[in-house]
Amino acid sequence: MNPLVSSLARCGLCPRECGVNRQQGKRGWCGAGGVTEVYRYGAHHGEEPPVSGTRGSGTVFFSRCTLKCLYCQNYPWSQEGQGREVDEIGLAAILKSLAVEGCHNWNFVSPTPWLPWIHAAWECVVKDGHALPIVYNTSGFERVEVLRALDGWVNVYLTDLRYSEPDSAKEGSRAADYVDVARRALLEMWRQTGPLETGGDGVARRGTICRLLVLPGRADEAVANLEWLAEAVGTEIPVSVMAQYTPAYQALQAAPWNRRPTAEEYGRVVEAVERLGFSEGWVQEYETPSPDSLVGFKMSPV
Ligand code: SF4
Repeated sequence: MNPLVSSLARCGLCPRECGVNRQQGKRGWCGAGGVTEVYRYGAHHGEEPPVSGTRGSGTVFFSRCTLKCLYCQNYPWSQEGQGREVDEIGLAAILKSLAVEGCHNWNFVSPTPWLPWIHAAWECVVKDGHALPIVYNTSGFERVEVLRALDGWVNVYLTDLRYSEPDSAKEGSRAADYVDVARRALLEMWRQTGPLETGGDGVARRGTICRLLVLPGRADEAVANLEWLAEAVGTEIPVSVMAQYTPAYQALQAAPWNRRPTAEEYGRVVEAVERLGFSEGWVQEYETPSPDSLVGFKMSPV
């Protein structure tokens, strides 16, 4: 039996392992129940260049999340559950529409609580003659055991290293174990995919990309994560350094989360990318970000 399905009677899809019976429709810590919920989908041009390509990344934003970040800009659907229920056939229809539209890949954002349903929908659409590379777009808060079940299915991991201090992870995302969990997860992703491989069109076919969102007052943690990456993985892993943090949701009332990172903080992280010798990746310009963070990227090669 698919290990992702066998876990549903006592859900352990994410490191919370809260054990609710999703087959009976019970909702877990993340709020996910027995039917997939999708907030929106479409061709997305704001991801890293090898993911967006020229025709866009076929992105599906799933409702619910296994973290509860106090600064989450997506909180209406990640934490408050906005979105609509779709069954396997409905999700397969979404995937088909993205393929027919010409998107380069299927990009699943926060897929973890919905993996068995996504996999079933994918099987339907592949039988229907549509196949695109799969991008697994995650906060990095993943169980290695679950990632192993995705080996050979996922083509590109787009993952985060958000914190290097457990206290920060607890305060920011209610996940004190995030640092160890996300680092172990990244090593497994890297084991599966290795470095970024692109086709003649420059679009990713395979690989792992690590995002580092610079948080206010916590630039040193992003630097520590870069140092860990250089040591544990190597400087050939593509890194994507992001300046787009803007206070939102509960962060508006909680210092230092209620401000943007300063240009000096951001510059320290960019300097570390150069000092450590990362050979591939992107650095977002430090500027006043667009209110719509989904189109806020302006990247230049490292
Ligand atoms: S995915 Fe949701 S329901 Fe499943 S273990 Fe994690 S928090 Fe619990």
